[in-house]
Amino acid sequence: MRLLLFSDIHANLEAMEACLAAAPPYDLVVNLGDVVGYNASPNEVCERVRAMGGAVVRGNHDRACTGLTDLSEFNLVAAISSRWTQTTLASEHLDWLRNLPQGPMRVDELAGMEFVHGSPRDEDEYLLNASTAHANFRVPGHADVMMFGHTHLQGGFVYQEGRTHPLAPNYDSMEGAAEFTLTLMPGERYLINPGSVGQPRDGDWRAAFALYEKDGNAAARVTFYRVPYNVKQTQDRILAASLPERLALRLATGR
Ligand code: ZN
Repeated sequence: MRLLLFSDIHANLEAMEACLAAAPPYDLVVNLGDVVGYNASPNEVCERVRAMGGAVVRGNHDRACTGLTDLSEFNLVAAISSRWTQTTLASEHLDWLRNLPQGPMRVDELAGMEFVHGSPRDEDEYLLNASTAHANFRVPGHADVMMFGHTHLQGGFVYQEGRTHPLAPNYDSMEGAAEFTLTLMPGERYLINPGSVGQPRDGDWRAAFALYEKDGNAAARVTFYRVPYNVKQTQDRILAASLPERLALRLATGR
């Protein structure tokens, strides 16, 4: 089983296309939410995500632009982009976003795994540190391998012998494409974030995604990917749409 993991595409068409071009062959795709918001190609990205099939869990930006949550919890820039997204999206895409399932989501073909946007206990919680991840590992009833997004930080956490440690891929540079493979040890539990396709925040501007592989009795593996893309084109689209300049600038630094 080869599972492609996309998260936080945020209407960034150029980043998504670069990830699709770089993705290895896969059997199934799971999308961890925030298909739209921030960047300027929501219709094109919704079209491609829907054409890929697989499973999609809803993110806070997917909810907000469809009116399922009010914008009072968003900062000003996020709220402006959410309103713009709402008025720009075709109604069929808005309907599709509105009906995305809330996490935790399970997928028939993937026993023992769970998929969330924020955290297993709260779809809006940010898993930014080991203590928050630890509290989530301790919530009974959850899977041993859980995939999350929302923080836009590639990596995650491992729970071993009652303790939780952060995990992050280690890349030599921020130039060109790169990948980093992690072997999931039997008996340990994992929270894995494939990173953000369309608005990375770990200081690496390259688009991020991951592939989970499990063959027979062999240990499962997660390969993290980083892919350069045409940031200038994404920035031009943001500025042409009169979205806040900050949304264009941040893409260049991955912050
Ligand atoms: Zn997001």
